[in-house]
Amino acid sequence: MENKIVQEKTISQWKEQYPLMHKIISTEEVFWANSKYGKFSEAIKKVSLSEKDVQDAEERLKRFAPYIAKVFPDTQKTNGIIESPIVKILNMQRKLEKLFDQQILGQLLLKCDSHLAISGSIKARGGIYEVLKHAEDLAIENNLLTLEDDYSIIDSDKFREFFSKYSIAVGSTGNLGLSIGIMSAQLGFKVYVHMSADARQWKKDLLRSKGVTVIEYQSDYSKAVEEGRKQAEADPNMYFVDDENSTNLFLGYAVAAYRLKNQLKEINVVVDEQHPLFVYLPCGVGGGPGGVAFGLKLVFKDNVHCFFAEPTHSPCMLIGLMTNMHDKVCVQDFGIDNITAADGLAVGRASGFVGKTLEELISGSYTVKDEQLYTLLSILSDSEDIQLEPSALAGIYGPIQLFKDDAGQDYIENNNLKDKMKNASHIAWATGGSMVPKDVMETYYKKGQELSSK
Ligand SMILES: *Cc1c(COP(=O)(O)O)cnc(C)c1O
Repeated sequence: MENKIVQEKTISQWKEQYPLMHKIISTEEVFWANSKYGKFSEAIKKVSLSEKDVQDAEERLKRFAPYIAKVFPDTQKTNGIIESPIVKILNMQRKLEKLFDQQILGQLLLKCDSHLAISGSIKARGGIYEVLKHAEDLAIENNLLTLEDDYSIIDSDKFREFFSKYSIAVGSTGNLGLSIGIMSAQLGFKVYVHMSADARQWKKDLLRSKGVTVIEYQSDYSKAVEEGRKQAEADPNMYFVDDENSTNLFLGYAVAAYRLKNQLKEINVVVDEQHPLFVYLPCGVGGGPGGVAFGLKLVFKDNVHCFFAEPTHSPCMLIGLMTNMHDKVCVQDFGIDNITAADGLAVGRASGFVGKTLEELISGSYTVKDEQLYTLLSILSDSEDIQLEPSALAGIYGPIQLFKDDAGQDYIENNNLKDKMKNASHIAWATGGSMVPKDVMETYYKKGQELSSK
């Protein structure tokens, strides 16, 4: 293994150049501070997407709101806008401090994308947005719709018949398939979801019950995406939702930041130079957490510090960012197996587009063991009565990593944050969980209880 060549270097050479590689390859937990992290005003100049693009996405979601409210009654109380609550989780914070024997300065909050309407995960942002955008493009091109229309007219046989001539394909570990599948089927599209081996049975069953064609693979996420892409290339009426490269997905996720700004104001959480905001985002291929982080940087600039969270067995974004190789390398190149209970994060090769876009905007990245995810799952359920799927717990581990790891302490020092940490807010982004069937959640919970009583 040490002599294996990856991108013109042996594994030994990679380890020598990046000492953190030793731990990453032995699947130990690590915290990495991004040495390229820069001032917002400089870093943003190198990014082609802008605030205007995110606003455009928000406008589109507003146009669709009357339609969404009509076909998904759960969204009526928010007038067809799909948004999740944010809550302070002080009981959990105290439990974490005790469990890890580590004080967390500042306050801990949870952004509950786990409870987003329609598909119960962060994918209800980007995934649904991209399907809506595609539907709008088609309908406008074919003179069925104008920007001024009340979009609730889309809930009609005329539109369903029109969309049934087109199809949509996507590759997924589960939740993206769920979002794309449910939304596309509702509009009337034919849908093909290519699922990796990680995808949970209940997600496949749910999609099939909605008339979605689910194609299963024994391999990981990269293969599922590749097959979806291939299928769509062969059919001019098929649209491929490209989780690895899509700017539409990314912008759909980014909208979250502007809404969060208002939510924080409502609960009197201040973010400014004296009150830094730390956000911990569970990361798979990167689109969801990357899009949200991008939006957060546009809104809060240097006052927000965003970190990606990955399983120790799937640290694709960390390796891609650290080595600057992005999607040219995958975790398997380094002998890491990409096998994790965090099915939403089971991705071996990160999005090159996301890694490059956030190269100087992301503060860092850390990894977490599967056992911790289960432990955190049961503790969160006990202390706050909030139930998440394993992937979604990765963010909650962030403050522990930040304060415990030397690299985290260095990050605080180097960014002049030491005396401000008592005023900090830490947001763990809870990315999924509310649609997990009760019996499945019960097995997760029991596993966590067993682990934490050891
Ligand atoms: C997809 C997913 C993520 C990460 O999103 P990516 O866009 O793949 O990085 C995190 N948590 C859950 C529960 C997910 O389903």
